[in-house]
Formats: sequence, structure tokens, C-alpha cells
Amino acid sequence: MVLMADDINECLKCGDCCKVLDGKGVRVTEQEWDTLEIDICRLDLGNEKFKKTKQVSCLPTKGKYGVKSCLFLGANNECKIYNKRPETCRNFPIWVVERKTIVLFKVAVLCPRAERIAADLEHSLPGWARALVGEKKHNVALV
Ligand code: SF4
Ligand code: SF4
Repeated sequence: MVLMADDINECLKCGDCCKVLDGKGVRVTEQEWDTLEIDICRLDLGNEKFKKTKQVSCLPTKGKYGVKSCLFLGANNECKIYNKRPETCRNFPIWVVERKTIVLFKVAVLCPRAERIAADLEHSLPGWARALVGEKKHNVALV
């Protein structure tokens, strides 16, 4: 499910979300790995490193911007796998927690757009968010 934060407030391409990754890095689904493996080879990022990170289902870190930066972040904050970047990256700074009666939109304060996006979500839900919420209640939280 790809959310559309850019519908609310366009990405500034500051690259902050790619430079301070928590834990092991951006989580990737099995299906996403399948499409990414070809790119890993093309970019010659190192098969051994790739195999190790695949075991934990996260994109490799320790890129050119330090130990917490994504290995795919290139010059001028460009993502080297932009068209195939994982859903987590596409959705940032929003992620959704769906409960039985409520849908929670969490917005990461790391992103300079966070407050604006949260305010816009509180004010009026765009179509993709309305579709998620349906008959449930919803809430927005900066985290
Ligand atoms: S895959 Fe691309 S968008 Fe995602 S963290 Fe890495 S550089 Fe950033
Ligand atoms: S931190 Fe926010 S504004 Fe900056 S690149 Fe990431 S999504 Fe875009």
C-alpha cells in the first residue's frame, strides 16, 4: 500500500530520511528484494554485503553519509534505486497503524514537512487516506 505524502506536501529532497536510519536500515519485503537484486549487481555494491543484509531483510547502511546512511543514497541526495525504492521509503514520513476501530497516521518529525503533513491530515484527509479509514475513526500523531 503506497501512501501519497506528496499529495499533501511535496518532498523537499533533503535526504534526511536516508541519512539517519534506525536499527539495521530500511526494511524490505521478499518481493522488493527480488526486484532490487538486479540493481545491486548493476550498482556493484558488493554481493557479500548484500547477502548479509538480505538475511535481516534490510537495505544496507554505512553509505557515503555515515554509518546510519543508506548505501543507495548518492550525490545530491539522489536515491540510486528511486524507481524501485521500498514502500517504506515511498511512504515516508507517514506510516499507518490499522486497529479494529481506528486508523492511526503516524508522521515522523525527522522530516521537515512533518508538522505540515500532520496538520493537513488533521484538517482534511486526501482520497487515499479516506479509503484507508472507511467507517473507522482516525487519529494523527507526530512521532
Ligand atoms: S532506498 Fe533510496 S529512498 Fe530509501 S533510504 Fe535508501 S536512498 Fe533513501
Ligand atoms: S526527510 Fe522528508 S522532505 Fe526530506 S527527503 Fe525525506 S521525505 Fe523528503
